[in-house]
Amino acid sequence: MNNDISSVSSDVRLLLEYYKILGFEYLPVSLRTADEKPDICGPQITLLQDFSKKVSVCTRCKLSKGRKNVVFGEGNPDAELLFIGEAPGREEDIQGRPFVGEAGALLTRLIEKMGLQRSSVYIANIIKCRPPMNRDPDSEEIETCRPYLEKQIDIINPEVIITLGRIALQALMNDPGLKITAMRGNFLEYRNVPLMPTFHPAYLLRNPKDKWLTWNDMKKVLERTSMA
Ligand code: SF4
Repeated sequence: MNNDISSVSSDVRLLLEYYKILGFEYLPVSLRTADEKPDICGPQITLLQDFSKKVSVCTRCKLSKGRKNVVFGEGNPDAELLFIGEAPGREEDIQGRPFVGEAGALLTRLIEKMGLQRSSVYIANIIKCRPPMNRDPDSEEIETCRPYLEKQIDIINPEVIITLGRIALQALMNDPGLKITAMRGNFLEYRNVPLMPTFHPAYLLRNPKDKWLTWNDMKKVLERTSMA
């Protein structure tokens, strides 16, 4: 019996060391049961790690000139939920991480209110480098950066995508006429993946009275996934 336990703990230690070598600070634990999705987390980690290294030196558009860091995205490579924002802001550019600062803290609280941990979902942006003065990314920048996000989505293969704000919705759906106030709360589809548009956390900081609308949207997301 003790031998069994020590063998298991040795396996766990080896697994943790493996993740550490790959640069992960957490163990990406899926909330699904083993029979709901094949265990392809290992290859996903490697694919995302390799891809992230490639993107980190990208100079394909003019935003590369002013950035401090490429903000590739972070989270669980096997996530059920993929949150997609617009572009890195000042703090994100400095830290190289998406959604830090006040808006990021609000997003983290929303994820926790859903009964999840920030590290159990994946968070990315349409654009990987900060536009100067936090201006909206232009259509050329969005198109140049789009293949990176598309590949991230293919690797993660989420159950639901949640777009945060107008720019992310319009860019992902390739429709600059979409209005966030009209579209939020209703499922769309992005390459066969359900997509829920909702407000950007920065908007909710300015308009806290609308937080309940985003919470309603997230309840619909939870109902749609295997986590319900
Ligand atoms: S925004 Fe995207 S395409 Fe432009 S330099 Fe950054 S990673 Fe490359």
